[in-house]
Amino acid sequence: MTFLRSLLILAAVPAAALAQTARIPSPSEHLGFTVGADRTLADWGQITGYFQRLAAVSPAVHVDTLGPTTSGQPFIVAAISSPANIARLTQLRAAQAKLADPRRLTPDEERQLVASQPSVIFISNNIHGSEIGGSQMAMELAYRLATNDTLQRYLEKEIVLIAPSMNPDGQRMITEWYRQNLGTKWEGGPLPWLYHPYVGHDNNRDWFMVTQKETRLVTDYLYGAWFPEIFYDVHQMGAEGARIFVPPLVDPVNPNLDPMIVRGIAHIGAEMGLALEERGKSGVANSVIYDLWWHGGARSTPTRHNMVGVITEAASVRIATPIVQDTSKLRGHARGLPKYERRVNFPNPWPGGTWRLRDIIDYELVAAEALVRLASDQREDYVRSFVAMGRRAIETGKKEAPYAFVIPAGQGDAGAVERLVDVLRVGRVEVGRANAAFSAGGKSFAAGSYVVSLDQPYRAHAKDLLEVQRFPKMEQWPGGPPERPYDVAGWTLSLQMGVNVVQIDQPLAVATTPVTDASPRVRCVARPGTALGDAAVARDTRQYGCLTRVPRVGLYKSWTASMDEGWTRWVMDDFKFPYVSLGDSAVRAGALRKRFDVIVIPDLSLREVRDGMTETQVPGKYAGGIGAEGLAVLKQFAQDGGHLVLVDGATELAATALGVDVKLVMAGGGGGSRNSAADAEQIYAPGSILRVLVDAAHPVGKGMADSSALYFVNSTSLELPANSAARVIARYPSQPDAILLSGFLQGASKLAGKVAAADVALGSGRVTLFGFRPLYRGQSYGTFKMFFNALLEPVATGPRM
Ligand SMILES: [Zn+2]
Repeated sequence: MTFLRSLLILAAVPAAALAQTARIPSPSEHLGFTVGADRTLADWGQITGYFQRLAAVSPAVHVDTLGPTTSGQPFIVAAISSPANIARLTQLRAAQAKLADPRRLTPDEERQLVASQPSVIFISNNIHGSEIGGSQMAMELAYRLATNDTLQRYLEKEIVLIAPSMNPDGQRMITEWYRQNLGTKWEGGPLPWLYHPYVGHDNNRDWFMVTQKETRLVTDYLYGAWFPEIFYDVHQMGAEGARIFVPPLVDPVNPNLDPMIVRGIAHIGAEMGLALEERGKSGVANSVIYDLWWHGGARSTPTRHNMVGVITEAASVRIATPIVQDTSKLRGHARGLPKYERRVNFPNPWPGGTWRLRDIIDYELVAAEALVRLASDQREDYVRSFVAMGRRAIETGKKEAPYAFVIPAGQGDAGAVERLVDVLRVGRVEVGRANAAFSAGGKSFAAGSYVVSLDQPYRAHAKDLLEVQRFPKMEQWPGGPPERPYDVAGWTLSLQMGVNVVQIDQPLAVATTPVTDASPRVRCVARPGTALGDAAVARDTRQYGCLTRVPRVGLYKSWTASMDEGWTRWVMDDFKFPYVSLGDSAVRAGALRKRFDVIVIPDLSLREVRDGMTETQVPGKYAGGIGAEGLAVLKQFAQDGGHLVLVDGATELAATALGVDVKLVMAGGGGGSRNSAADAEQIYAPGSILRVLVDAAHPVGKGMADSSALYFVNSTSLELPANSAARVIARYPSQPDAILLSGFLQGASKLAGKVAAADVALGSGRVTLFGFRPLYRGQSYGTFKMFFNALLEPVATGPRM
């Protein structure tokens, strides 16, 4: 039945509809070029122009500008439905808010809404700037939804919300770069900087922390305005595997996901796969690579808000330049499709040949329209299950431990506490403040303590952010090496942020006042009362918010687009800590000690810093790194009394170019996402929270607890010789079992006792080595202070030049 029904999707448009649609231009007509043609891209101005035109001429389209992006572009979302639904969007949106929180529904209202309320789906495109197909596809999808009679009939029972790009700044950067290099040997090549002003690819890792403007705009729209039942995230992947990935995803399943979410994802993926096969689209794979464990992605945060979050990944081209894919080069995926051959989850391999932007758009259109049809056909099921999941979350929170989490009042780092509460509130978690002192679980809490009671619709989101993650051990075959996580395995915010949060495993009744306003953001690292350390350094001034004397900081910025560099800039900007970005030519020019007290090299390998990109990858002015001469300049900088701060992979510079006597202990053995039996004993943790013992007497360790937590991303730890002049700042426990706090860690015995941070003199200056990322994704507030301590320390002790 489903099969026959879907064959009707593209039934001929009746004459009556043609009369109505005649005034509405297609994207190609409006733009004056063929959308999706080889070497052709619509830029953000053209895309928003088309959507505005569509809204002006079609009663089926309404466009909202959610706000400006980081670079000031308009962030738009189009609502497309039947003209009758578009005329009553305000009313439909208010009803959607009630469905999201069953406590607000009377039984009568519920019956009525289940019978009549349209389903709501959100289609998210192009969050990753270079995955540009979705931004072009969105215009065609919008046009077809507004003008095709069959699709319009579906929309009598459905509202489709389309963000043509979740990253307009990146869309614009990629389009400009592509056009600039068209016809040169760099056509379709990589952008030598991040495709977002701060965080590049990690904009799809920001969805619980909500640090970036775009994340915030969409978060408010999803959980504060529209409450869609289904969220569809349109991505692209590598070019050598399947032509498109559709759900289901792979194990493990996060324990906080409602089973209806897991089933809903599989159901939608099956409909997409079937529609693609019907249309003769080969190379469709499901159940590969992408798992249902991690939190923080655009598709994963909705699944903790009772929304079915799905993803597709189409094979990429060189931006808009076709590729020719030799059949012999086609391959499977490490997980789910080890070989490129016909299987149950890959019944129709693509034979190879030319693959173009148009193919990506066509595959994505079929998948999107299959979802549109499904969400209309099964409208009632989706509306009903959305309410049911919210209700189930509330009921489970009433009868199952944990019942609540308490953030005790009066603890050390007030700024981090306020930020944690803000993160929860932005994700629409209900947080209360205790009106009076109370006790729970045998502990006493003061009035003013924050209480997160788990009998609430977004229980899954709250619980997943506050509890400890235990990534399940999954052997690839009985007795074989473990499967590795797809992305981060642990994210527990209390541990990352250094905030004491107490889990309550008994029913809790305490009178609280709801926290309504978002707290003021922490703007100042050294405000009195925070744990920065030296009060003499950390006095308030008007100019910098906190500091009387700020060091002159240079932050190295490579042409290899380092996300850690971007996050470092973001955190320093957020804290109003001044710095200067320092490119390859500025480093090579030398005399850095005259300009800077501290130079920070973010997480980059020696090869990236020294050699950068090659001239075959990027135009000459972006190629070559700092070279051997630049490394010599950095060494001279330290010898002249400067302070080098090397983060994670950049510790390799110390061991080689700077001549520091330190041995690096590498993680991630074997490379790739899958363990081989040979490297199953290597250190491997692609995103986990580990325990570390900190010397709080060291200036960089000031304000840290003796036993603290840090974020480890297959990081580079250190071994110092017995007679080393270096001073250890932080070290992993010598008991392997004591290291992992949240997530997944393989090879703990290899990490036991290793050094996580150290400080060593070099000439009249020094080098601080962080064998981890203290500012990880703008999340790890618990170690932010170590980073800022490192910047401030030379001002406290050394003379200024
Ligand atoms: Zn992507």
